This record gives sequence, C-alpha cells and structure tokens, in this order.
Amino acid sequence: MSDDSHTLTQVESKDFIREKIERDLESGKYNGRVVTRFPPEPNGYLHIGHSKSICLNFGLAKQYGGRCHLRFDDTNPTTEDPEFVESIQADIRWLGFDWGEHLYFASDYFEQLYGFAEDLIRAGKAYVCGLNEAEVREYRGTISEPGRPSPNRDASVEENLDLFRRMRAGEFKDGQYTLRAKIDMAHPNMKLRDPPIYRIRHAHHYRTGDKWCIYPLYDFTHGLSDAIEGVTHSICTLEFENNRPLYDWFVQSVDALPEGAGHNPEQTEFARLNITYMVMSKRKFLRLVNEKHVAGWDDPRMPTVAGLRRRGYTPEAIRAFAERVGVAKNNSLVDIELLEHTLREDLNQRSPRVMCVLRPLKLILSNFEQVVGEREELEAPYYPPDVGRPGSRKLPLTRELWIEADDFAEEPPPKWHRLAPGASVRLRYGYVITCDFPVVDESGKLVEVVARLHTQEEAAKMKVKGTIHWVSAEDAIDCEVRLYDRLFSVPEPDALEEGVDFITTLNPKSLEVLKGCKLEPAAAKEGLSRVQFERQGFFFADPDATPDALVFNRTVSLKDSWAKQTQPKQAAPERRRAQPKAVQVAQPRKPIELDQAAQMLVMVHGITPHEANVVSGDDRLGKLLAAVDGLDGDVKAVTRWLVNDVASFLKNHEGEPPFGAAELIELVELQAAGTLSSRLAKDVFAELCKTDESPRAIVERLGGGQIDDEAQLTEVIRKVLAGNPDHVKRYREGNHNLIGAFVGQVMRATGGKANPKLVNEILRRELNAN
Ligand code: ATP
Ligand code: MG
Repeated sequence: MSDDSHTLTQVESKDFIREKIERDLESGKYNGRVVTRFPPEPNGYLHIGHSKSICLNFGLAKQYGGRCHLRFDDTNPTTEDPEFVESIQADIRWLGFDWGEHLYFASDYFEQLYGFAEDLIRAGKAYVCGLNEAEVREYRGTISEPGRPSPNRDASVEENLDLFRRMRAGEFKDGQYTLRAKIDMAHPNMKLRDPPIYRIRHAHHYRTGDKWCIYPLYDFTHGLSDAIEGVTHSICTLEFENNRPLYDWFVQSVDALPEGAGHNPEQTEFARLNITYMVMSKRKFLRLVNEKHVAGWDDPRMPTVAGLRRRGYTPEAIRAFAERVGVAKNNSLVDIELLEHTLREDLNQRSPRVMCVLRPLKLILSNFEQVVGEREELEAPYYPPDVGRPGSRKLPLTRELWIEADDFAEEPPPKWHRLAPGASVRLRYGYVITCDFPVVDESGKLVEVVARLHTQEEAAKMKVKGTIHWVSAEDAIDCEVRLYDRLFSVPEPDALEEGVDFITTLNPKSLEVLKGCKLEPAAAKEGLSRVQFERQGFFFADPDATPDALVFNRTVSLKDSWAKQTQPKQAAPERRRAQPKAVQVAQPRKPIELDQAAQMLVMVHGITPHEANVVSGDDRLGKLLAAVDGLDGDVKAVTRWLVNDVASFLKNHEGEPPFGAAELIELVELQAAGTLSSRLAKDVFAELCKTDESPRAIVERLGGGQIDDEAQLTEVIRKVLAGNPDHVKRYREGNHNLIGAFVGQVMRATGGKANPKLVNEILRRELNAN
C-alpha cells in the first residue's frame, strides 16, 4: 500500500508575509533572491509550534524559488547539546524539508562576530561596562523614566578595546564586564537602551569547546548571522517585534553583508502557534521530562515533533495543519480539534481498516458447525468505498470469537443496539447473531456469552440495528494497546493564573495501557503499522514493539467533534436524539469537509468554528472582521459583538451598517477599560446603529459611563450584602463562586452603571472584612 497517493485539501491564501516578498521581488530589492532561515536553539526538541515556522520558512523558499537555511542559534553554552542538534535535523527531514548544503551554526561565526564587535568599539558604538546585572537593570530606567548612563559609557576606544580583548583572554570572572552597544539610554523602546552584546561565561561549548569564554547575545548574533548568510527575509515570532529596531541597528552599524547581497535582511514577525490543551515551550517540556511526568521527549503525549511522530501523526497532516492555521499577526489559540480533524482527514485516506478487540469477552457460536462447518474465511476490504483504495484481507470466522466487553450488556439500557440476552446484532463483514445467554462463574462474574448464527435467509427477514467488531479467538494475535489522551485537562495550561503550576493541570488519565488485546491475524502478518481499528480510532505501531510483542498507540479516536461543530444546522436534531451516554458508539464515519469560507476565518483570525459560521454567513460581517484585524483591534472581543448584536442588527438592515470597524474597536476598548459595563455597552451599540457618532461621543452624550465613585459604590454594596446574610455566610465559609451573584445584584442596583472592576474590588474587601 503506498502512503502518498492523496493530498489534503489545501487552502490557497496570500498572507502579509507573501505580500511583502512579492513586493520585494517586484522592486528588485534583493535582486530577486528569497533566502529564509529556520534558526532553532539546540536546547530541546522541536515542537509543533516550530513546525509552523519550518513550514513557513521552507515553504516560502520553495514557493519563490529561493532557499532556506537551517542555522543553529547556539550562543548559549550551558543549555545546548549535540543530542538536540541531531533530533532537530531528523525532525525537519521527517516533516519533509531539506536545507541542502545550507546547514550553519552561529558558533561558526564567533570569530567574525568578535571582529564586528571590535569594529563597533572602534566606531564609538560599543563600550565595556563594569556594572553588574542588577545595576544594569537599575540604570536602565522604566517605561516612564529615561535610563542613566553607565559610568563607563564615555571611556575611550583604546580603553574599551583593551578591556574587551582582556575579556576574551579570560582575565575576568563571569559577569564582571559586559560589552554594550552605545545607542540611547533615553530611548522609549527599552531594548535600545544600550543593550549588552557580549557577556563573560566560562563554560564549555559543545562545538567550540573551551576556545571562548565570552559569548555574543541573541540580538547581536541573530541579525548579523542573517546578514553574513545573505538572508533576505528573517521571519520570527511576534515577541521579537520590539527587537526589530535593534536588529536593524546592528546590521546597519556593521558591514556584514556578503558580496552582491544588495540589501540588508529584514525581520518580519508573525503570530506564534498555540494550541488548546498543550504547552508550547521547551522550558516546560524539560520539566515534564525531568520530573518524569512523561516517558521522554518523544512520549506520544508530548507536542514535540518526535512525540507526534511516535503517536502516529503524519508529516502530511502537520503540514496541512500549518497551512490551515495560516500566518497571522494576532496571537491566537488554535483549537486542538482543528489539529485532530486535519489528522483524521489524512489518516482516513491512508489507514487500512482492521479489527482489534481491546477489552475482550469470549463469544461462543453454539450452532457454528451446523451453519458454517469448521471455519470460514471472509473477504474484507481494507478501505471503505468512499476512500476507494484497493486491498483486502482474509478474516477467519471460527466457533469462538472475541468481542468487545462493552458491546454486551446483561441488562441493557433503553435503545441498546448491541448484544444482550435475546438481542441480535450483525458481526462486521459477516453473519447476524442472536445472543442466547451469558455464562457466569461461581462468583457471578461474566466469563463468556453464548449466541447463535443465522443463515442468510433468516437474517434477511430480521431487523438488525447494530454491528459489532470481532476477532476469531483461535487466530487472534495478542497485542498491547496504549490509549493516549490529552496531556492536560484544561484548555490553556500555558496561560494559568499567577502562582498556579502548570504541572497541577496534567490530565491523570492521559494514558491507559491495555494488555492482551486481540488483533485480527492479517494485520499482524502483513506488519501493518498504521491502521484504523474499526469503531475505535486510528493507531500506530510503537517502536517499543517487536514482531512477538506488538504495541499500538492510539493516534486519535474516531469521534470528530470539530466536524460536528462546523456541520450544517440540519444535523442538529439527529445529534440531539436522546441516547444514554454509556451506549454511544463511535461509528467510523467520513470526516465532514469544513465550509471553506468558515475554515479560512478560523485560520486567519483564530475565532471559534461557531463564530466563523456566523461571520461567513454575511459578507458585511466578514468585511468588518477583516477590517478590525487590519486595524490591529481586539479580534476576539469584536467577534463576540459581530456574531451577536451586529449579526442580529444586520438581519433587519439592508446595505452597509452605519458604523465601521473603528467604532466597534472603540466600543470594546471602552468595555475593556471598564468605562462601559456590558449593559451600557449594549445601550451604546443601540445608538451606534442609529447615528454616526463615535462610541466615545455617545458615552459623553448619554451622561458619562460608569459609576466610579468608591464611596457611592461601597454604600450600594453594603446594602446588597446586608440583604443577603445567607450568601455572605456561605461566601465566608469558602464558597467564593458567589462573588458573581453579588456583582450581578450590584449591577442591577445601579442600573448597570457601576464600574465592574471596582465592584469586584470593593466586594472582596467587604466580604473579607470579617
Ligand atoms: P520555546 O519558547 O518553545 O523554547 P523558542 O522560540 O525559544 O521556543 P527557538 O529554538 O529559539 O525556540 O525557535 C526557533 C524558531 O522557531 C524561532 O524562529 C521561533 O520564532 C520559532 N518558533 C518557536 N516557537 C514557535 C511557535 N509556537 N509558533 C511558531 N514559531 C515558533
Ligand atoms: Mg528561543
């Protein structure tokens, strides 16, 4: 079976990075060259966030006929390790990208970078500073206050050169001196207040050994390494936005460009990828690994590329996901369901269906000899008709079978379509059977179930609703199955409240190991490594396995709540049909295509599928959303207005609305600032629909926003508390959820005009007073 004969639906889109590159190509800025780079620090394994950057950088190079360098940004001797250099290369190759001969190490530039630093000193643009770390911080000032100059700021070039050379020669202790760029101690961007360029670190480097005891810092190294390599488009994540002027300052202050490069490299930032139920930082992975919460960097629960690979993700699925998420300027959190949906779409096409019983229960077919004889070999296709790939296997049917323990119920709940005494089901690919009775041991424990086969003629007359999977007991191959689930039990383990350790949000049920599972023989004989266990999910052979001891990891279950969320409305009644939880079966089904327009919105703006569906239903909403993003507004907050109030207004309103993106942004800003409670915000919105005033003007006209008067609010709050002695008592006994009820009452008492932030503060103070 070949694995690559299909592609996932790709969405063509032109993002702001591609637009910039095309402008540069048009203007001839880099003589038509496109050179990007992926610059990992070898201090950990790559994660799925990195793969977004990899797909982007290598993808751009490919799309525009350029090249992408792999450069290890290895300037920190104490955290780096050759193990990581190896794993990073393996992971990028596995993802399907190739840097050709363009493998670089920042540490290879140490001599050259050192020369640039001396050049800066000679140009009076750098000096050796004797302040220690704490003093440097103190001298730097604050956002509202300028910094103070280092006492060494005006030392002569000779003095500086001498000290810098002695730093290199190892005459000083760690931290005794730094080399700093001489830029502007009063600059509003704090990054430009004479940032350090070199620090002393007597440490062994995995590549340069003990040759150096001074190491260049990121901002200096990064831009200059780009320039040395002739990189044109240096693409990084948003947190480096404030570093961009520094990047430019270094490449402009030093003559580092290779012959013919034409123009300095330019940095462009895009949003980091974050996914719900995942953490996305090497520091946190290190803790998970070192504290043994997971089995290692490649534990299949880790969002590392190595972990995803071992779990059974395919490079195609990860690439398609990166594509779908797209490149945006607003940081957003992508729903893990989108990742899993994309994965299922891919696995659906490439995973032969086989049967495996995870929690086996013996089924005896009492009339087997009469109906079948000794045994029968059923022919079963590997793929369902809608996948349309060839291939089939033989399924031995024998007198004794394994079935899934929870496909049998002695006392079935209502609407049970599986096996129970007297009930009939179809065996997948085979006969209809009727259960006669369960067999229990002395202690009353169920040991097996006895059933009867029906002939084709009998079956034709029967109404059978359920189908169950099974494996011949005589032919089954034992295997171990590892059921993986989300590693964290909260949607945003990366954004917890101050003081909450992310480790406390680990999902205790993220792994369940089942031994003695029963696999159909063909799957074992053919050594299939990537399969769908029918009705269970997609599975992948773990490298721990041997031919005698098979191990399968659950890559992802079959249930696709993402597809469900984006399904057209008609499907709703079907889903709502009451069915007790315990009897819900995940039936294999075809993943549903996301509506393209809605999908784009999710990818581009990071809004939820539900919101995307609403927005994509009305062009005017889509235009407003795009404009809000373009103006750098709070997309999430505005979207809430778009899908509720704005959508219902537009339903009864033809043509363009009397307000635009700027007004909506202002509205949510007033809300965020606490000027408008949500009640008042609604009033302001109602006015927005009638006039062409701005929200601020409306607030002023309506007589100001909130009640901000602390004494006045305290009085109201005391009255509310006095009127609810029971609630107050319960709050003080620890039921802090009640705070919401109190806030609600205060808001009502003030006609929605109280400043909610202040109400919260005063409430807590009053409630904690006794
Ligand atoms: P972490 O914070 O996880 O330790 P990092 O940014 O320190 O990651 P690097 O090795 O420095 O890791 O990153 C290499 C490249 O990958 C950088 O260009 C960085 O911007 C990019 N990158 C890192 N994390 C993400 C992410 N979550 N989404 C997109 N790109 C990322
Ligand atoms: Mg980093």
